[in-house]
Formats: sequence, structure tokens, C-alpha cells
Amino acid sequence: MAEIVVIGAGQAGSSAVFKLRALGHTGRITLIGDEAFPPYQRPPLSKAYLLGDMTRERLFLMPEPSYQEHDIRLKLGAPVTAINPDTKVVSVGDETIKYDELLLATGSSPIQLPAAIGGELGGVYSIRTLADIDAMASEFSEGRNVLIVGGGYIGLEAAAVASSKGLKVTVVEMADRILQRVAAPETSDYFRTLHQNHGVDIREGIGLSRLSGTERVTHAELSDGQVLDVDFVLVGIGIRPNTDIAGTAGVAVQNGIETNTFGQTTVPNIWAAGDCASFPFAGQMIRLESVPNAIDQAEIVAGNILGAKTEYIAKPWFWSDQYDVKLQIAGLNTGYDNVVARPSDRPGSVSHWYYGGDTLLAVDAMNAPREFMIGRRLIEAGKSPIATAVGDLSTDLKSLM
Ligand code: FAD
Repeated sequence: MAEIVVIGAGQAGSSAVFKLRALGHTGRITLIGDEAFPPYQRPPLSKAYLLGDMTRERLFLMPEPSYQEHDIRLKLGAPVTAINPDTKVVSVGDETIKYDELLLATGSSPIQLPAAIGGELGGVYSIRTLADIDAMASEFSEGRNVLIVGGGYIGLEAAAVASSKGLKVTVVEMADRILQRVAAPETSDYFRTLHQNHGVDIREGIGLSRLSGTERVTHAELSDGQVLDVDFVLVGIGIRPNTDIAGTAGVAVQNGIETNTFGQTTVPNIWAAGDCASFPFAGQMIRLESVPNAIDQAEIVAGNILGAKTEYIAKPWFWSDQYDVKLQIAGLNTGYDNVVARPSDRPGSVSHWYYGGDTLLAVDAMNAPREFMIGRRLIEAGKSPIATAVGDLSTDLKSLM
């Protein structure tokens, strides 16, 4: 029976090991993670858990006894430092663990602010791990000044939590507008207004020049010369896939660990899934940073490790929660040239439909679950309703299917 080792005890790693057992694999399975905790959900870290609305126990993907019950050896607090594809072993400290098949599910790491501009001062936090959130929790008291560097989804979710807890929140975004990398101006406008209505100071087209303070951060100088008093700083300026151990082992890396549609890397018996993996999609190599992708890809790859030969065809979707707004996104908007807004008679509810020519590519649905569901089904079926019909509230969306 093949011995299967999975590196990375996160969303993808956990999905893969339980899927392997569900598919009937009876050989040894080892799941190795460098964090101290069993696999947990990250999305609540910048939402309900940070707000204090969710207990720690509910973060964990599976109760700890499940690993034993499924005969999965869980090795935590154990960074894998090397892979030897010739001898088929991985090194964890002084220990070596043998594999027949190896799955890399190493996720990604937040980009840090350089130490030269104060990135290592006390009171400066990334938003990635449970340890990060636990470390910053005591900072969130009413009336304090928090600076959020980066106006992407994670930064904005943290801004919503901080503002809801009565902190004075400033967001600086170097690009011309928040969410520029991921969304159309219409969606940026929606979230800018939402945050401003909650008293958040959003500064766009402005970068951070430096943080200063003795040991702890006290001031932030912005690229327009302004200096802000800050009590603490949250950094949400993007992530990088964790590819180092793969690259050193000779696995090809190109915007992530390169895989084919089956999840195989360029080295025999080594597979990859989740945030760390790039894969072919619509003629390009892409990487998705989302829970649905981590689960679906890991489960397909688990089947392929056992010989299924199923292609992974991604169906991208994502969500974000800010205040009382649930954003749901279906599809990928890359290459859009037109955005149609579909209004709604419910306050705060609107959807933005992205087209590339006549092809429907993606939908951003703000408090519009029905529009999300129909848009998602249309995109997955490769159907593109006429844009003017979508934008017309008198069109029954269901009739477009
Ligand atoms: P991870 O969950 O990051 O797991 C990888 C694990 O591997 C980590 O524990 C890492 O430490 C470990 N590891 C790395 N290298 C080694 C090594 N050498 N040895 C041992 N272990 C190693 N997605 C959504 O779809 N919706 C959301 O609303 C959403 N919100 C998010 C909010 C936050 C704050 C964050 C951080 C992410 C959010 N995401 C969201 C993204 C989503 O959580 C990730 O896409 C998902 O967790 C990816 O799963 P993964 O298993 O690939 O990586």
C-alpha cells in the first residue's frame, strides 16, 4: 500500500487526507504542518473570529480525534525543510519520512513590509494565521488608531471589524482605488462608500513611506508627506505562494508550483494543490487563493493520487463579509471590457456583471445571493445572456438560463 505524505496542514492538506480515506486508501497517511494547530479555517480570521463572534473551537476543520479515527498521522509544529525526490523522503528536523506519493499543500505567506521602513516594529501585524490574530487581539480597543496598509479584501474585512469595535480606522491603498487588482471601479465604489459610511478614512493613490517608533510603532509617514499617529498597523498587501521546498527539490515553479490538470508537478510522484499550486485554466497558468479552490483541487488530486485520472476544472468563486454586506463572486473577471450593474429594489443590494465582448466572465454580487447563484450557473454552463437584458430590472433573471 502506498505511503502518502502531505506537506501543509491547512485547508487543502486536510481536504486531501480525508478524501484519501473516503476513497478507500488504506495505506499510511501523514499530514505535516508547521503551525501549532490542527487544520483550521482562515476566512473567519479577518471576520467573525477577529470580531469575537466565533469561538476558537469552531475554527477547526475537523475535531482533533478525527485524525486518529481515520488513522491519519498528524504531525504539527513541524516544518518540512527538504524533499529528496531520488530517495523519496522528506526531512522534518532530524527525522526523515518516506513517501510513495507526496502532496504539496503549503499554501502562501503574506508579503511583509520591509524592516527598513519599520516592518519589524512592535504593533505591526500580518493577517494570515491564528497566531497572528491571537497576537493582535488585545490591540482592538475602542478609540485606538489603527492603520491598515492595503485595500484588498483582507485589509477591508479587518477595517470593517476594527470600525465595528469603535476604533479609528485609516486604510491606505497605493493603487488608484481599493480592490483595483481584483474588481471593477463599480465594486470599488460600492465598498469605498460602505466603509466611509462607517467612518473609515480611505486614502487611495497613497502609499506608506515608513513606520516609526522606538520598539513599537507610533507614527506612519505616507507618500503624500502626511504623518499619522498610529497605535498599531495591519498589513494586507498580498501573498506569495510557499514554493521554496518544492523549488529546491527541482520541482518547476512558475507563479506557484507548476501542475498539470491532474495536479501532478514536473517531478514524478509529487503533486500540489491549493494556494501554492498553479494550473492550466482557459489557456493560461493561474493560481487561485480561495477556500473553494483549495477543497475542490485537493479532493480531485487525492483521487488522482489513487489513480483516478480526473482533470481539475476550476469553477472559481469567492466571498467576503464586511459589516452587514456579503459579497459573493462567481467566475474570474480577467480580460473584461464592460461591466453591467444590475440594480435591485433591496437597499444595498446590487450585482456587477463582467463581460469580455459578449462573453459573461464574472459576477460580483453584494447582498444579492440570487444574482450570484444565477450568474454562477450561467458562467459554469458557458452561457452569456445579453448584457442589456441583465441590466434591466424587468428581466426575470431565471429566464436568462
Ligand atoms: P493554507 O490554508 O495556508 O495551508 C497551508 C499550510 O501549510 C499552512 O499552515 C502553512 O503554514 C503550512 N506550510 C507551509 N510550508 C510548510 C512546510 N515547509 N512544512 C510544513 N508546513 C508548511 N478564501 C475564501 O474563499 N473566502 C474568504 O472569505 C477568505 N478569507 C480569508 C481571510 C484570511 C484572513 C486569509 C488569510 C485567507 C482567506 N481566504 C479566503 C483564503 C483561503 O483561506 C486560502 O485560499 C486557503 O486557506 C488556502 O488553503 P491552502 O491549504 O492552500 O493553504
